[in-house]
Amino acid sequence: MPRPAACLFDLDGLLLDTEPSHAEAWSQAAAHFGLQLGAAQLLQLRGRRRLDCAHLVQAWIEAGSFRPVASDELLALRQPIAEKLLAQAPAMPGAEALIGRCQQLGIPMALATSSSREAVSLKAAPHPWLAAIETRVHGDDPQLQRGKPAPDVFLLAAERLGVEASHCWAFEDSPAGAQAARAAGCQVHVLRPEAIAPVLYPPGVRWLNSLAAVPLD
Ligand SMILES: [Mg+2]
Repeated sequence: MPRPAACLFDLDGLLLDTEPSHAEAWSQAAAHFGLQLGAAQLLQLRGRRRLDCAHLVQAWIEAGSFRPVASDELLALRQPIAEKLLAQAPAMPGAEALIGRCQQLGIPMALATSSSREAVSLKAAPHPWLAAIETRVHGDDPQLQRGKPAPDVFLLAAERLGVEASHCWAFEDSPAGAQAARAAGCQVHVLRPEAIAPVLYPPGVRWLNSLAAVPLD
């Protein structure tokens, strides 16, 4: 496999093990409105922007309770829970080493995340190795039109690095993220959580058993 022009990394569930925290925070917030989020619903929230998640959860609550819920209210409830949990999220195994390998090989890198700038700085604080990824597209980036599963995050990340998205490798864990990267034309490497069936991902992705198994050199 020829080397990529650049590597575009998802953050949550790919470089950092934040998905359990996200799931817990949404569960607690939804429970406040009387909704117990099921496993399938929690998986559907993966990889999406906070506001997009809020709209999904809001719709699920309203469908069950027949009463309107403000997404701001939902987000305000979730925020302190999420902040506390996310500030302690560990790295995914092999993440730091993979970033180090890219750096050593001189492969340009970008972060292509649905997370807001503020949320990324909170989660990244205990992980100084993430600073090696200087180019970043956040979920609340002023130049970003649509969140994942739309291709915009990856297209913008490639553009900022001055490379074609089709010459990039994208690293993702969620179906929404993999869909976004495929739609952008990237070669997509998926670190699939066991709980998510392969059939939920777009065709043509490459499966990774671990971040240590990325075929870079
Ligand atoms: Mg992810």
